[in-house]
Amino acid sequence: MRLAESSTATALAAAAAASGASLDACCARLASALGDIVTTTPFAESDYFSLQESTLVPTCIVRPRSAQDVSRAVTILSTARTPGCQFAVKGGGHTPAGGSANIQGGVTIDMTSLNATVLSGDGTSVAVGAGAVWNDVYGYLDEYNLAAAGGRNGLVGVGGLLLGGGISHFSPRVGWACDGVVEYEVVLANGTLVNVSATSHPDLYRALKGGGNNFGVVTRYDLKTFPQGNMSASTISYDISQAGAVFDAFTDIAASPNFDPYVSLQTGLLYASAANAWSLSSSAFYTKPVLHPEVYSKLEAVPSISNTSEITAVAALAAENPTPPLNWLFATLTFGTSSEAMLDIFKTLNASLYDFNPAGGVTWNFAFEPLPSVMLSYANATGGNVLGLSPEDGNGVILLFSALWSNSSSNDSIYRKGRDAFLAVRDVAERNGVLRKFEYLNYAGPHQSPLASYGKDSLDFLRQVSRKYDPTGVFQHKVPGGFKLW
Ligand SMILES: Cc1cc2nc3c(=O)[nH]c(=O)nc-3n(C[C@H](O)[C@H](O)[C@H](O)COP(=O)(O)OP(=O)(O)OC[C@H]3O[C@@H](n4cnc5c(N)ncnc54)[C@H](O)[C@@H]3O)c2cc1C
Repeated sequence: MRLAESSTATALAAAAAASGASLDACCARLASALGDIVTTTPFAESDYFSLQESTLVPTCIVRPRSAQDVSRAVTILSTARTPGCQFAVKGGGHTPAGGSANIQGGVTIDMTSLNATVLSGDGTSVAVGAGAVWNDVYGYLDEYNLAAAGGRNGLVGVGGLLLGGGISHFSPRVGWACDGVVEYEVVLANGTLVNVSATSHPDLYRALKGGGNNFGVVTRYDLKTFPQGNMSASTISYDISQAGAVFDAFTDIAASPNFDPYVSLQTGLLYASAANAWSLSSSAFYTKPVLHPEVYSKLEAVPSISNTSEITAVAALAAENPTPPLNWLFATLTFGTSSEAMLDIFKTLNASLYDFNPAGGVTWNFAFEPLPSVMLSYANATGGNVLGLSPEDGNGVILLFSALWSNSSSNDSIYRKGRDAFLAVRDVAERNGVLRKFEYLNYAGPHQSPLASYGKDSLDFLRQVSRKYDPTGVFQHKVPGGFKLW
């Protein structure tokens, strides 16, 4: 039960004073209006995926229990004039860059209590609270032999993944995860709560599909469901000497004009600096309960160290437990399918990273994922998105470039090395004539410009929608985290 407003504010002020923190006027106003959902109790370490996020300390945290709570909080935050009223919005907390979904000395709205999942009467959509994680969604839908397009790891947030696009096991069958959103419930900059769909605010509907956190705080997503039973999952490890053969097999699948829509494939290179060793693996998943499907025959014919395969429920495959955060770096690029470019990228990374072993070590991880043109063919039928991609682009590959390490004193040298290696990889893709402009927002590093990568038309459209629904730029200036439009 919520405490009486004034006593909560007093208790909060006392707690803040006792802890030596300064409770500024902004948090006091929030506490006075919203009671005990405003707190100075810090986040648990595992609430965020990265140390860069988990080490930030907001002055207070708002933990809404309803969309109305979010509306009241945004109304107060958007009209307040004090600098402490800058705020962040946290979904599943999985974006690594510091300040994306948390804030030092401001207010963090933690959406995680809004995590209910409710199937529609006819079973064609599921209403999901914006603070849910994909574990919540798949666990619920598995019971009905249904699924919705979402993240592949269960602790990733519904909130952030859907605002940036969303690559799902099911994407070749149904498109980007954001293409499956049939309705959003959103708190706009002035605190108004609106329902947004193909027929209600269609411009905002399209802008939310890839436009990030620039338009409001989403409180609920209604997601299209589809029948789904078990699927198959094979994890294949290879000696690094097989890189060329694996890239050939990967490219045969990714480049196919008849891309098999049940394919969910990632091929990953991993380099652990302390061990001075590369490893190579493929997660060859298939969204039907078929072990060793024909499409993976060439990939499975490459001599491997191990190949474990299982038939599994979607929820069981996604299930994971929280782990303590590490430092993380993400960056991304997109290129047209080319096995030669992949091999060149590997050689370039090896030359750049092989002798680099900072204090505490670092593990580099490079995941290649098909971006088949068939996946880009669903957007138009569902109100469009803003990603600026079209099936005519042809089959492509998204590279997620990442690093993880525990010793924060190595941050600067790893950021520098990461940037150099990334630029070298980009050059290789360009020299091979396959570099594409698209930078996937959910994988992008803070130095990248994913919204601009959608192209001028999309960017102009996003800016226009932002000025219409948020004329004073609350989500541009008061919410500094994420990629901004103005
Ligand atoms: C281990 C791991 C696995 C991943 N797997 C996939 C995958 O399978 N497919 C894929 O496409 N991506 C994947 N990603 C990337 C992932 O999509 C992004 O990190 C995404 O932003 C995470 O969403 P979140 O809600 O957890 O993050 P958060 O860090 O909480 O939020 C991300 C951004 O969205 C904003 N935001 C969150 N919720 C709301 C809301 N309700 N209203 C307004 N703004 C909001 C935040 O302010 C922030 O800017 C993965 C990332 C990790 C670390």
